[in-house]
Amino acid sequence: MAKKICRNCGEEFEPGRSPEDNRCQYHPQKAEHMGTSDMHHDYSEVYKYPCCGQLEFPQYLTGESAPGCVIGLHEE
Ligand SMILES: [Zn+2]
Ligand SMILES: [Zn+2]
Repeated sequence: MAKKICRNCGEEFEPGRSPEDNRCQYHPQKAEHMGTSDMHHDYSEVYKYPCCGQLEFPQYLTGESAPGCVIGLHEE
C-alpha cells in the first residue's frame, strides 16, 4: 500500500494499518518564536508551543523535538 505523509506530524505512514502501528504524537499548533534566551542558554532562539506551553531551543536539538502533547492516529 502506498505511503502517505501524516498531516499532523509529517511522518510517513501506511493507511489501513492497525491503530497501534499508526500512533501519532504531535502538537496541534506550530511553535511560535518567542525571542532570544538568556546567557544560560547561549542566547539561543526560543520557540514555544501555544497548545501546551512547552519551550523549544532549536540550537540544542539533536533530532528530538519537544514531545507532542496530543496523541492520536496519523491522518492523511
Ligand atoms: Zn503542544
Ligand atoms: Zn502523524
